[in-house]
Amino acid sequence: MTPPEPDPSGTALYTALARIVVELADQDRLRSFSLPYPRRVQLVLDRTGLYCIRRGLPPPKGVPELIEWCRDVPAGDPLFQVPDTLVDPGTTLVDAVGAMPSRSCLELASHGPQGEVEQEAVQLLAEPAVRRGPVERHRRRRLFLAQHPVITRRHRIQPSWNTAVWTSISDLYERVPASLLTDGDLELCGTCGLPYRSEGRRDGSTGVWCEGEACPADVPPETVRQAGLAKILRPSLRAFLSLPWHTEQAALSELTRAEVPYEFAGAGLGGHVVRGRVGRTWLVRAYDRRQPALLAARVREDRAAHGGPLLAVVPRWAWDAPGYRTAFAAAIGDDVAQDVVLSTPEDLPGRLTDSPKKPNGTESPDA
Ligand SMILES: [Zn+2]
Repeated sequence: MTPPEPDPSGTALYTALARIVVELADQDRLRSFSLPYPRRVQLVLDRTGLYCIRRGLPPPKGVPELIEWCRDVPAGDPLFQVPDTLVDPGTTLVDAVGAMPSRSCLELASHGPQGEVEQEAVQLLAEPAVRRGPVERHRRRRLFLAQHPVITRRHRIQPSWNTAVWTSISDLYERVPASLLTDGDLELCGTCGLPYRSEGRRDGSTGVWCEGEACPADVPPETVRQAGLAKILRPSLRAFLSLPWHTEQAALSELTRAEVPYEFAGAGLGGHVVRGRVGRTWLVRAYDRRQPALLAARVREDRAAHGGPLLAVVPRWAWDAPGYRTAFAAAIGDDVAQDVVLSTPEDLPGRLTDSPKKPNGTESPDA
């Protein structure tokens, strides 16, 4: 017997859940729930109830239970049946230790015409405060944002502190939400610099969460004591600008080492333009994404906006993750596969060539 077709309404509901998780986290209400709920949260709760009743399943009793589902029920569960061609079946929307939206949640909430998280990051980078003046000034402000997901007193007393840049873009920062503080302190991941949390479990082990999700667990975090005066970058910019910046820096270092000239291109979240060996203009963009199929959808859009070939640089963990490149290749589509190359930073200079790609869409064109 063939298994039943996945129910598309399950995918639509799961995506709607991703968006309300982001909205509740934005209001610092993922840990403690208080009435009244935002209108959209109530609507999605009602929609979930109806969805369950139609399938003879018990509906969630309220928003706290709905959020528990987002934490515990994976995308591939028979309840949602989100196809594995869109997201990994084990994906959950809320991290159990961090009690924050997972990165997959942010990526799914950014997917499709109603996407809103990555889109907010693009919008914020397009604001006059960031964009005003010559391109070089825009580049510097973007770099500042990428390098400083959190601003503390320590930053402000450094000799290199740039008051002019800070003044122009400080509106893109906010107070650290209470849910990220422990006794007033904020912990930051020792690798990616994004918020971090560790939590003792009943079995005596310690659960660890960093917002970047892909960092080694044995690097000790940095603690910002009494972080009430610290400022934190908007979550959308932390996820879609600060995180891939590490990969972007590694990619630019490799280009410099290989003596390949590149030029800053500020459109969207920003990238760099490189001339290929026979004159094609490549957009080189760094992406740090958990979900390869959602990444492929974004790369398609970025390639179309650029109007030419795109070199998507991904971190080594993504390149090495089982199935990641295959899922990306399957989702990118034959119509643009010739114009899209996936690479790690280390392999980037060698991939800047204009010869045709191998048909699987993931291998180096000149390998
Ligand atoms: Zn980290």
